Amino acid sequence: MELFHGPTLAFKDFALQFLGQLFNYLLSQRGETCTIIGATSGDTGSAAIQAVRGLSAVTLYMLHPEGKVSDVQRRQMTTVLDKNIHNLAVDGTFDDCQNLVKAMFNDKSFRACHNLSAVNSINWTRIAAQVVYYFRAALELGAPDQAVNFSVPTGNFGNVLAGYVAKQMGLPINKLIIGSNSNDILTRFFESGKMEQRGVNPTLSPSMDIQISSNFERYLFELLGRDSVEICNLMQKFADTGQFEIDPEHMTQAQQLFAAHRLSDGETSKEISRVYRETGEVMDPHSVIGVAAARIHGDPGVPTVVLGTAHPAKFADAVERATGVPVTLPEEVTHIMDDPERAIKMANSLEAIQALISADKNTN
Ligand SMILES: *Cc1c(COP(=O)(O)O)cnc(C)c1O
Repeated sequence: MELFHGPTLAFKDFALQFLGQLFNYLLSQRGETCTIIGATSGDTGSAAIQAVRGLSAVTLYMLHPEGKVSDVQRRQMTTVLDKNIHNLAVDGTFDDCQNLVKAMFNDKSFRACHNLSAVNSINWTRIAAQVVYYFRAALELGAPDQAVNFSVPTGNFGNVLAGYVAKQMGLPINKLIIGSNSNDILTRFFESGKMEQRGVNPTLSPSMDIQISSNFERYLFELLGRDSVEICNLMQKFADTGQFEIDPEHMTQAQQLFAAHRLSDGETSKEISRVYRETGEVMDPHSVIGVAAARIHGDPGVPTVVLGTAHPAKFADAVERATGVPVTLPEEVTHIMDDPERAIKMANSLEAIQALISADKNTN
């Protein structure tokens, strides 16, 4: 199921395009405005920008580390010239950008004055919007009379959580298959019942390079019978020690619905190459992990839908190396390579960035 035909060629557009319109609609009704602030290492920034560009009630400041995002990723952000979009090229790293954003949210008077908001992956509206395509796909395949499996390449557990919600709403989902890269905290959990944090290593599928799956707590809450005290204890233990474990009964229950599979970078390249040779399909290094996981965990007689999360041209280098054929950006987006860019260079300084945002507000 190709979910990557939105403006930034990744599945996040699906939920974010909806979220932007919903924000604007509700704020306008209330006569309010809000300021969205985010930090990006390249990937999610453009999806957020495309979601809110041109909206009357929303102003967006997106911080990226200057010189540390790819040409295409930078251009996807800086060629958006709408008045309400501000790209800040910060003299620092991605972590510096994230720390600046956190500091602005922790500054209570600044936060209130600008009605600060975030659109990160734990935003519930994003999850809710994603539920829709699970229903649509299952209905196409014969639900409710026919059960369906879904295979989902995931890192933050955001996309697959929407599948779980769909199941809770009554959609006949037989199995949810999780695909991960070598940052495999989820796969290790569903194999062993043990959640254990390790360092992050960069892979061919960078949008799944995570250390902690920020949406997982929501599933755990359901699995443990909505026992919020128990969840608090587990999360505290995880924060203190970097690990926790689930009892065997609950693990058996989890494994009845979930299966998981990990692919190394080498295996990912091989799978891209195999799929291309055998079917002619050119797949990106995230989606193809879903294909491999489906091949391992699929069931006879139950159709399995793999969620395609990115267009192969977004990860052209890895795809070209694996298939030996060039991939080109779709025509709708090639213009960014020639369009004028706009970004404001900023020092790694909280005071300077807050002053800029406040000055903008006063001139509007
Ligand atoms: C964000 C992203 C993912 C992972 O999404 P989750 O919210 O972690 O499920 C997978 N593939 C691509 C291409 C992405 O951009």
